[in-house]
Formats: sequence, structure tokens, C-alpha cells
Amino acid sequence: MIIQRVVLNSRPGKNGVPVAENFRLEQSTIADTIQVGQVRVRTLYLSVDPYMRCRMNEDTGSDYLLPWQLSEVADGGGIGVVEESKHDNLAKGDFVTSFNWPWQTVAILDGSLLQKLVPQLVNGRLSYFLGAAGITGLTALLGIREKGHVAVGANQTMVVSGAAGACGSLAGQVGRLEVCSRVVGVAGTDEKCSILVREMGFDAAINYKKGNVAEQLRELCPGGVDVYFDNVGGDISDAVISQMNQNSHIILCGQISQYNKDVPYPPPLPPDIEKIQKERNITRERFLVLNYMDKQEASVLQLCQWIQEGKLKVRETVVEGLANIGAAFQSMMNGGNIGKQIVSVSK
Ligand code: NAP
Repeated sequence: MIIQRVVLNSRPGKNGVPVAENFRLEQSTIADTIQVGQVRVRTLYLSVDPYMRCRMNEDTGSDYLLPWQLSEVADGGGIGVVEESKHDNLAKGDFVTSFNWPWQTVAILDGSLLQKLVPQLVNGRLSYFLGAAGITGLTALLGIREKGHVAVGANQTMVVSGAAGACGSLAGQVGRLEVCSRVVGVAGTDEKCSILVREMGFDAAINYKKGNVAEQLRELCPGGVDVYFDNVGGDISDAVISQMNQNSHIILCGQISQYNKDVPYPPPLPPDIEKIQKERNITRERFLVLNYMDKQEASVLQLCQWIQEGKLKVRETVVEGLANIGAAFQSMMNGGNIGKQIVSVSK
């Protein structure tokens, strides 16, 4: 059977900025028949995510991520529909997902590595399983629950960097639902800041490309910062950490501002900021959502309930066509639109 697939065409280099041309669309073939235990699936949605930047390097710098190989098909979070099944628990028409979905139109996969999806849980919005009801939502929820030390009655102020991104836009809302009394976001455009406040219930948002972030934080967080959901690292995080209270907590989710640099993860803080962190006893433990998969099922149900109740507002940008996945990745790495960036493969 003839299929379309996207392979890694070239590596950007550890310090380079990734571009759409690092990927290549090509025609390929898969077997006409499937073996016992396998399913043939048609791809519906693929996710583009910042961690994929590490997979573009020969060495990802982490033990849980394998590098993509040149001229081999790329993979990541994906959703599809079963077209043919020789797996006992999967039938034609089932919707399924995997963290390692190949970037191709049709694939033969091992059925035991797929999770079945229930579209009703997300009001039929299947792509949400790659975002708000998937790894992104889990990252926001479990990051806050495992590392945020958010407590009822503690009157805490939370700051979220990368606040308009997939994780950040949810983290601020989850922070509020988990009873932070004030939530302030940091994002890269006035429009994103406006949506965070008008639509997503943030109390305030700072455009880090305009004015002095530290000064604006001082004004917007008069009682200091108790919980910092850090998606970006770098100068923004230095400004936030300098305003954090004694015994406060950083949720070290990601450091996207450093991903095109050859630095260790997590990148060390500048000495003056590290001194503040130590003197004020601010926790900064590494958080990896994949370490909490025993809590996946209950947490996804919680996220779906909030989505159905309208308590969690979800934004996503859906780019049409497998041919455009490289461009979608490039755009995402440059800030993208508010919320989750998804590629629809069916059209
Ligand atoms: P995303 O949707 O691409 O959002 C990232 C946001 O960061 C964008 O809104 C972007 O927009 C902002 N940003 C990009 N470059 C920036 C820079 N140099 N300085 C400041 N802001 C910048 O990505 P995501 O899926 O939400 O992921 C967010 C972070 O979480 C990433 O670091 C990712 O690696 C991490 N993550 C961690 C886990 C985990 O288990 N720990 C799981 C999933 C994701 P603006 O610049 O326009 O604001």
C-alpha cells in the first residue's frame, strides 16, 4: 500500500534554529496485510511539541528520548482510527492514540502499544487527547499537584511563563481551579495576554517583549510569588525567581528559551539567582510527566470533567495536511498561536 510520510531531512545542529526544511515529505509503502496482534490505522491528528527539538540532535541529552534518524520517519503523539485489526481488544472504527505515532498517513502498529480513546469524554473533540486531555493537560495538572505545593487557604500567587502555550494556558487555569488566589501569566504578544485574561481567567498577563518584566511583576504580584510554573527558563525565569517568597516552589516544567542552545538540562541558574533560590529555600526539582503515569487515568478524567463543565477553556490551532507538519513545528518553536498546535492529517 502506498502512503505519505515525513522523515528527518537534516539536523539543525545543537545551537541552530529548526526550520520546516529539516523535514521532508515522501512517498513510501507499507505491507498489504497485517500480522496477529497488529492493527492498520489511518492517522487523524499529530502533535508538534517543544521536546521534539531534542530529538533533532544526534544526542537528545536525555535517557528517555531517542534521537530521530536522518531519512527515517519521525514520530510523536498521534491519534488515528483503526481500519483493520488483528488485535483482540481493538476493532475497526476504534479511535486510538500513542506517544510514538509515526508521521505517516497510514501505519501498521502493534495493537498492545495503543490506547483506546472515548470521544464522548471530550465532547467529540478528538484532538484534545493530544492537548488538554492528553500529555499537555497532564503536565499542567500533575506538575502543579506534584511540585506546586498549592494548598487550600494558603492564598498563593502563581506565575506562569510560556503562559499562552499549550501547557501554560492550562497551567494557569488549573492553578486557579486548585485554589491559587492570584494567577499571572507571561507571554509574547498583547493579543495572547489579552486572551489569557479575558478568556482563560488569568488575573493579569505581562508581554515580556514590552517593558521591564521584573517591574511589572512587582506591581502585579504585590505579595511576591509563591508558585512559579516555569516553561521557558532564561531571563524571564530569573526575573520571576528574584520575586519569589521564602519557602516557595518552582514547577520546573520546561526551558524552551534554551532548547536551541547546547546546554545541560536543567540549565544552571546564574550565580546571583541561584543565591536567591538557596537563601529563600525555593524548591526547583525537575518535573517529568512521564514519571507519573500511574496517575494518568484519574487525571485525564479530571481534565475531561473540567472541559465538559466549561471550567477549562481550550484553544488549539489545527494545521491541515501532513505536508505542513515541518512548518507547524517551526511555527510552534517560534511562539506559535495561543494553546496547542496540532496537525490534521485526514484532509
Ligand atoms: P508551546 O505550546 O510551544 O508553548 C510554549 C510557549 O513558550 C509559547 O506560547 C511561546 O510563545 C513561549 N516561548 C517560546 N519561546 C520562548 C522564549 N524564547 N522565551 C519566552 N517564551 C517563549 O509548548 P508546550 O507544549 O506548552 O510546552 C511548554 C514547555 O513545557 C516546554 O518547555 C516543554 O518542553 C515543556 N513540557 C514539559 C513536560 C514535562 O513533563 N516536564 C511535558 C510537556 C511539555 P510566546 O513567546 O509568544 O509567549
